[in-house]
Amino acid sequence: MKRLLVFVWLLILSLGVSAQTPSWEVTFRGLTDAKNIGEYMRLLSARPHHLGSPYGKQNAEWILARFKEWGWDARIETYDVLFPTPKERVVELLEPSKFKASLQEPPLTVDPTSSQKNEQLPSFNAYSVDGDVTGPLVYVNYGRPADYEQLERLGVSVKGAIVIARYGASWRGIKPKVAAEHGAVGCLIYSDPRDDGYFVEGVFPDGPMRNRDGVQRGSVMDMPTYPGDPLTPGVGATAAAKRLDLKEVTTLTKIPVLPISYGDAQPLLAAIGGPMAPTDWRGGLPLAYRIGPGPARVHVKLAFDWSLKRAYDVIARLQGSTYPNEWIVRGNHHDAWVNGAQDPVSGVSAELEEARALGELVKRGWRPKRTIVYAAWDGEEQGLLGSTEWVEDHESELRDKAALYINTDGNGRGFLSVGGSHALESLVNAVARDVEDPQTKQSVWKRMQARTIVYGPPSERAEARSRQDLRIGALGSGSDYSAFLQHTGVPTLNVGFSGLDSSEGIYHSIYDDYYHFTKFLDTDFAYGRALAQTVGTLVIKTADADVLPFQFTNLAETVQSYVKELQALLKEQQDSVRERNHQVEEGAFDAIADPRRPQKAPKVEAVAPAINFAPLENAASSLTRAADRFKKALDGSRGKLSPESIAAVNARLIQSERQLIDADGLPRRPWYRHLLYAPGYYTGYAVKTIPGVREALEQKSYAEAEREVTRVANALDREAALVDAATAALETHK
Ligand SMILES: [Zn+2]
Repeated sequence: MKRLLVFVWLLILSLGVSAQTPSWEVTFRGLTDAKNIGEYMRLLSARPHHLGSPYGKQNAEWILARFKEWGWDARIETYDVLFPTPKERVVELLEPSKFKASLQEPPLTVDPTSSQKNEQLPSFNAYSVDGDVTGPLVYVNYGRPADYEQLERLGVSVKGAIVIARYGASWRGIKPKVAAEHGAVGCLIYSDPRDDGYFVEGVFPDGPMRNRDGVQRGSVMDMPTYPGDPLTPGVGATAAAKRLDLKEVTTLTKIPVLPISYGDAQPLLAAIGGPMAPTDWRGGLPLAYRIGPGPARVHVKLAFDWSLKRAYDVIARLQGSTYPNEWIVRGNHHDAWVNGAQDPVSGVSAELEEARALGELVKRGWRPKRTIVYAAWDGEEQGLLGSTEWVEDHESELRDKAALYINTDGNGRGFLSVGGSHALESLVNAVARDVEDPQTKQSVWKRMQARTIVYGPPSERAEARSRQDLRIGALGSGSDYSAFLQHTGVPTLNVGFSGLDSSEGIYHSIYDDYYHFTKFLDTDFAYGRALAQTVGTLVIKTADADVLPFQFTNLAETVQSYVKELQALLKEQQDSVRERNHQVEEGAFDAIADPRRPQKAPKVEAVAPAINFAPLENAASSLTRAADRFKKALDGSRGKLSPESIAAVNARLIQSERQLIDADGLPRRPWYRHLLYAPGYYTGYAVKTIPGVREALEQKSYAEAEREVTRVANALDREAALVDAATAALETHK
């Protein structure tokens, strides 16, 4: 037997196979183990662990101990943040009949952690104001600005009313914001079974979707204004920080708001009279969806404990050997609304497995060239508190040193999905080609491409077949990357697998737990492992690259496409207003009127003026040319760069994303400084690209749009100049 082995070994040697030692990236991917990820999840989701809870602190300490055990230099950094928790919650129907909402999610016998009542936060929306209001009820569909335009045409006002909106289509915090802008005094948000219940699939515990008592908790802080601790905008919420008075805070809601289940919503909706809701407003409940106002009258009373709570961020480091002052930062939050197996434990468990495997590489002799910082954030659910406070606290150091931030959050089965800085698009594509999809055994890149080919629109299909890189999306908000990307200008990626299962049905409820996850979602943690492999490979590649792996050609091309979108948006506005004015003037609305279902004709509006996009077009072209020169110089310099020129190039590249931020920030929200990416002021999580110009157009503030065109053009010119400086540094390598 021994002789045979020696023979086989010699045979392999002679074929030259054993001469090839696997790269650190390949070794790393082999070290990751799905079983470990499942074990972390079982532990971390064993009890409710929201910000300020005993088990949340215990989890942070457990994570700290693991980092240390795996060879990382780790510590906990704490921040004291405002997090109101409920003291009193009442929702009752007073007229035409009486009904009191239960506001309870009952435990289920098959689901062991659903009964941990004493440690569960009740269902509520964080940063709702206290309030005691009574009024007629109005159904407002998803509660977006466009829904109120529709209501106005139907002659329905929400002034003095309590609105009931369904979850979905916009971020939840937008619903009470827009309701208050229209004069409502209270807001209820419910989960309609059409969106995440039995209309989609069977309900929990028989299926994965939301049952009649399930409630989506969540923050309604005005995050598009600024995220993080409401009392300390722009600075870390350390013990010594100067804090705003509660009265000065601008990110609380203006009216009380509470989420409810469809079990509690159904009697309220059934009691609403008035006109039928438009067809696409109707949900999946067996009732006639009417708009009101009234005759349903509702009483809502809410009171909160407004004390500070302590957030525990776990921060772990591996020191870089060659460029210790260039940092790769990677994070996922550890806090949940309740047990949170999917959100966030499926993500943080993958992150921990990366940390373990990277520690193992170090034991085997690997030394990353750059410093790697792994973070487990607290208080994400309330409004990105832990990550935002840490970034604000360390801002000047991050501006000097941060080369990349990689974020993950809840993870699932399916397709790799990546959003972020477009200078990183080619890096993402390279890594996606190296990671194997656990179900098909093809690369995750191949599977992403196939998805676009099968499900994408024809234009994207052709591109997916021919373009070298698949496109990555732009980031709005909704997880811990905002302070890195949009406040500080750190190149950022948000990474996850999804698309085969819906985790909406248990999102932010007591049923998002280990039982549900292991029955309906990534049951064997294969995609948790794929996530760890993907992100770990991104980390190793970036940490060990001589020249930071940024490419500006895709960025420039993407910017060009945004500029075209803005021009098309303006033209579309002009055309549709012209056409509608024509319809009004020729009396078309009067001619179609139905006296039984009266609707108001829209008013004649001024047509948008022409806007000069030339500065933006010119700057985008300069960036394109600079990006091409850099690519050419980099391709020509492979393997011939001196350590000095590498250092000089990286000193430029590390500042590249920072050129796209403007110290003054966006109009009316100076915390958001990135001029290419921001969450929409009226969409919340969903991104607005070139937000200064785009939102000014949407709000019909055309003078502001012109001013913003100039500011964005200046930022693109700065970026082009920096890319040229990097090219010059490359060309001095000889
Ligand atoms: Zn999350």
